[in-house]
Amino acid sequence: MALEDYKNDALRCTRCAYCKWIPIDLIKSWRFSKGCPSIEFNNFHSYSAGGRLVTALSLLEGRIEVTDKVKESVFMCQLCGNCDVTCKICRYDMEPLAAMHELRFRLVEDGKTLPQSDKVIESYRKLGNMIKKPKSKRGDWAKELKIKNLSKEKAGILFHAGCQYSYDPELQKIARISIGILKKAKVDFGVLGQHEGCCGGRAYHMGYKKDYEDALAYNISAWKKAGVTTIVTPCADCYHTFKRLYAKDGSKIEVLHMVEFVNRLIKEGTLKFKKKINIKVTYHDPCYLGRQGEPYVEWNGREKKIFGQAVVYDPPKPRYIGAYGIYEQPRNILKAIPGLKLIEMERNREAAWCCGAGGGVKEAYPEFSEATALERIEEARSTKAEALVTACPWCEKNFMEAQAGNDKPLKVIDIMELVEQAL
Ligand code: SF4
Ligand code: SF4
Repeated sequence: MALEDYKNDALRCTRCAYCKWIPIDLIKSWRFSKGCPSIEFNNFHSYSAGGRLVTALSLLEGRIEVTDKVKESVFMCQLCGNCDVTCKICRYDMEPLAAMHELRFRLVEDGKTLPQSDKVIESYRKLGNMIKKPKSKRGDWAKELKIKNLSKEKAGILFHAGCQYSYDPELQKIARISIGILKKAKVDFGVLGQHEGCCGGRAYHMGYKKDYEDALAYNISAWKKAGVTTIVTPCADCYHTFKRLYAKDGSKIEVLHMVEFVNRLIKEGTLKFKKKINIKVTYHDPCYLGRQGEPYVEWNGREKKIFGQAVVYDPPKPRYIGAYGIYEQPRNILKAIPGLKLIEMERNREAAWCCGAGGGVKEAYPEFSEATALERIEEARSTKAEALVTACPWCEKNFMEAQAGNDKPLKVIDIMELVEQAL
């Protein structure tokens, strides 16, 4: 696909502004009715999905130049996908999120990049990860754990930690805890150690498509060599990249997030919770596990005009409306923990507010990223929960960093920590 393929969407956008809110029938209060962090922070139409469709159309028709302000309006967005869900539910069969990705690809192809993002990508090209850590140390977190290394041994399941869980000293424990859970369930699995590759998802989101394609080629070849049939990952970003983007590019491998795998192990009786955890928690749906965690559906149709003007798709395009993301599995796990009480935030599942870390925003616009995280923390606090639980390292890191300096921060817990404590 190319930006030109979304020209009809840009023409059909009625500037109705539904995409600035959560789907209207899911609104519970004025306070938590907003859906788009970008419009909330900037309060100017160009910083919304509808506004970016206007920008795309203006570029395609040669009516504007890419100034620094245009770049800012294109890149100051987490690509969280709330707009996409709301537009489809409230308005049309349009794909504003896909159009916004293409807009970024076009700007990057034309060299209209952000210096902040270029720095991240330059280091990614050298070191093979998004967080500027040495390539050779990628597998160190698992050194003492006596796990099969699938570059030398065989196992059907590959545990893929991802960049954050592999390197971040505060988050590495989650990868180790996940390994402990898999061992307890006697799962035959392994890791790729220092040969594990970055999924390339964040490069894709930042608009650097070629870097994503290189990551795709590397990983597919490494998995083939290792004879892997299933990937299990605790990272929501890696999950979305493998499950949706790689599938779009031809991968047939089974992809599971840890919450899906653990939920399956609980259901079949392999894992049983024995210990009580008396805690009230609320659960944050990561964008790439929730509304963007829907599986890829192939579409090879064509565009046609009816009555000589209205554009329709034949057969109709699959609609990603966020309804089939990974929502119930983490909730089933939490509800199965004795003593734990789960309280929902007003914006949950496909209407969840973003953590603020996605789309290259954390690196390029840290103040915007922090404000987005603090809005979610406030919503979590409004439930009176003692902790905010999630299943993505980027969300966890952003929620923790946004509260740095707060002497009473809301506790942020990875769901696997609770699983481990309850077993
Ligand atoms: S909801 Fe859809 S049609 Fe309405 S302004 Fe947003 S992108 Fe355009
Ligand atoms: S992806 Fe998220 S931040 Fe970007 S325009 Fe859509 S709702 Fe706003």
